[in-house]
Amino acid sequence: MTLPIGVLALQGDFREHAAALARIGVDSLKVRTVLELNAVSGLIIPGGESTVMHKLSVTYGLFEPIRQKIQSGLPVFGTCAGLIMLSDTIIDGIVGQETFGGLDVEVKRNAFGHQTDSFEIDLDFAGIDDGPVHAAFIRAPLITRVGPKARVVAQLPEDGSSHSGGVVGVQQENLLGISFHPEVTGEDRIHRLFAKLALA
Ligand code: GLN
Repeated sequence: MTLPIGVLALQGDFREHAAALARIGVDSLKVRTVLELNAVSGLIIPGGESTVMHKLSVTYGLFEPIRQKIQSGLPVFGTCAGLIMLSDTIIDGIVGQETFGGLDVEVKRNAFGHQTDSFEIDLDFAGIDDGPVHAAFIRAPLITRVGPKARVVAQLPEDGSSHSGGVVGVQQENLLGISFHPEVTGEDRIHRLFAKLALA
């Protein structure tokens, strides 16, 4: 019997991720306890607010257990705030903000400023060959450094703007982190890609 894919359900848009998994026929489990964490084949960390997610994961006794699961190879997919939680280093975090870490990258929180807090765009995505993915950016982080262990899977277009060619998706073995929200636009192909990793 295959274990479900967990969705960290402390805060943020975990329901949308559970709905995306349901659309592609994958069982999901909302994770709020260590018992639930131990019963999943992979974990999705949703978008939301990374500062709150950090605090709640400590309160729920999940911070260290998730850290250890990541280190021991659990497949984990983070979107937006979830990417921040997966990153080894953050810029513009609040005082005392910590991440689970695992991805050999640095991200800058709220990198797109107020005027362009939210936008949608089509992007090429490594491993998805049947057309660009539809990406919604909502107070999104930008990946500002990619270490040697991680590989870029998605970038903004080279359009001469201040974020031209900016890195917005990386993969490192079983870890996948993206700046945007496929779960709010019905773009299910990245969930399919992750499900393949988690259920392999
Ligand atoms: N700006 C948020 C943070 O720092 C992320 C926004 C999002 O997940 N849509 O956590």
